[in-house]
Amino acid sequence: MNASSVHAPPPAQDAGPDHVLVLNSGSSSLKYQLIDMTTGARPATGLVERIGEETSRVVHTPAAGRGSRRERSGRVADHHAALRTVARELSADGVGLDSPRLAAIGHRVVHGGQVFTEPAVVDEGVLAEIERLVPLAPLHNPANLAGIRTAMDLRPDLPQVAVFDTAFHTTIPQAAARYAIDVDTADAHRVRRYGFHGTSHAYVSRATARLLGKDPADVNVIVLHLGNGASAAAVRGGCCVETSMGLTPLEGLVMGTRSGDVDPAVVFHLMRVGGMSADEVDELLNTRSGLLGLCGENDMREIQRRRAEGDQQAGLAFDIYAHRLRKYIGAYYAVLGRLDALAFTAGVGENSAQVREAAVAGLDGLGLAVDAERNTAPGGGARLVSPPGARVAVAVVPTDEEMEIANQTYTLVKP
Ligand code: AMP
Repeated sequence: MNASSVHAPPPAQDAGPDHVLVLNSGSSSLKYQLIDMTTGARPATGLVERIGEETSRVVHTPAAGRGSRRERSGRVADHHAALRTVARELSADGVGLDSPRLAAIGHRVVHGGQVFTEPAVVDEGVLAEIERLVPLAPLHNPANLAGIRTAMDLRPDLPQVAVFDTAFHTTIPQAAARYAIDVDTADAHRVRRYGFHGTSHAYVSRATARLLGKDPADVNVIVLHLGNGASAAAVRGGCCVETSMGLTPLEGLVMGTRSGDVDPAVVFHLMRVGGMSADEVDELLNTRSGLLGLCGENDMREIQRRRAEGDQQAGLAFDIYAHRLRKYIGAYYAVLGRLDALAFTAGVGENSAQVREAAVAGLDGLGLAVDAERNTAPGGGARLVSPPGARVAVAVVPTDEEMEIANQTYTLVKP
């Protein structure tokens, strides 16, 4: 460990519990952010990755002026060991897991089904319900549960709040949420469209309204969350009315490694004619498809570089990606009836001027266009990239899922 010798003085002991620790537990990783809810500052962020392997890695980054980044490698056996490591790192910076400054721990939970329309303070009933949803999110919910249980073990007295990726989408009307399949079969197996990335869509749709100087209740927005995973949401007056991910995060847009929409018969065809098992098709569509499947690369920066050099495979992958975006923008415009803003967020959405330009290319008739100079201007933060006076605002709005989780958590528990 390259422990830093520079530490900020510990925070005043008489201040109330005003920090939230946000935990995002994956199957082999634990990401965390400590957030000061009075200032919005992040005293520390970090991650533990490759949990359970010999090559686990811990990276802890205190805020500027509070010490230097610390990194070490070596086996971290399980989530319990990972959180104990995080607790040690946080203690060294002044607000540890045992600190009276900690008001709660907010946990990202991927699947809340139809049950959790809001964040929930975790108790035995909530744990049982998240467990009951494991068949709908077999990779994610068990990892999220492991994180919650570990945190409860280490701080049984502290409120633990589960914030669900699906919750923002529970307002989607039946007409959009149901698949047109036999109702009894669908209900027996809880088959419907749930949607994901809800925390991001909630945050970005509100931040877009703020950017326009309007109340979210008065604004209709399409949010395009374009990261390695990607999804679109249509938000009317602050409520989500349609989203592109469905029963699982596989449906919808072209993603880094996921196919997005395909004819369901592709699955039967690959099984019957291609001799693949259900698990093999699952693996193909989730991990060897999307941009990676189309051109052997899932990093949009690399695809853009190859495309600029005339690489046809990369060019086609980019075109398929952009075509799917335009199709969804048009569809969601129709769903909303009136559109005030189109917001781009996440790794690709925030950083790729080329993707934003291609996504609205030819949509001038719908009032959608980007201004070349604004779209390519350097700089972060929420900003407009549409031409001045455009009928529909096109915006880049950086997402902040951790802040959204922290806000939702603190709202439930603040003294
Ligand atoms: P996320 O899942 O939100 O972290 O986004 C990851 C994706 O963002 C990766 O596919 C990156 O290639 C993409 N990305 C990050 N920076 C850029 C950039 N400057 N231009 C294009 N894509 C980017």
